[in-house]
Amino acid sequence: MDPITSNILLVWLTFFGACIGSFLNVVIYRLPRGKSLSNPPSHCPKCGHAIRWYDNVPVLGWLWLGGKCRDCQEPISIRYPIVESVGGLVFGTIAYLTLQRDVDASLFELFLFVLGMSGLVLTFFAAGLIEKDDQKIPWKLFLPAMVLILPWMVIRPTEVFVYGIAIVIATSCLHFLLYFFSPRQKTITPLMILAAMTFAMIVCILS
Ligand SMILES: [Zn+2]
Repeated sequence: MDPITSNILLVWLTFFGACIGSFLNVVIYRLPRGKSLSNPPSHCPKCGHAIRWYDNVPVLGWLWLGGKCRDCQEPISIRYPIVESVGGLVFGTIAYLTLQRDVDASLFELFLFVLGMSGLVLTFFAAGLIEKDDQKIPWKLFLPAMVLILPWMVIRPTEVFVYGIAIVIATSCLHFLLYFFSPRQKTITPLMILAAMTFAMIVCILS
């Protein structure tokens, strides 16, 4: 892939990731509460007004509204743009790493690989936030990432393994940061750290 195409792809995937982050905000709130993900469309939780499409642009929408609802002027949680930024950052980083290595991969293959790996990271991130909200993590949350990653476990098992280690370590750090700001007795953080240490140990033994 030539440098111009790969740079355009990188920017596009980062923006796509921010949009996934925006959707993740909806999933984190609605899925554990058994609410529909599509209905009603995005609205202000305080005054109920629908969010206009141009205010719904990830991160930028929150910035140009000054963190306040356009209709009732009530503050919108900073968590929304943070989750959107994390989405963009995760997709952008994984896309960059994949583009560096897989120079011969087709566009479609590259997209599906980045989607699978980023989906896995963001699923664990969302699980942490759901737990932070004192909600039960629904099993359905893991379904899309599992479906997306399954074919890669067969096609590229070594890469999935290496990425798996990196993902576990990265999400453990994210969860640690989350709980650093809001320390409470939780189960997922110690479990993630334990998993990261086990993976690291296996790698050390095998290498
Ligand atoms: Zn409002």
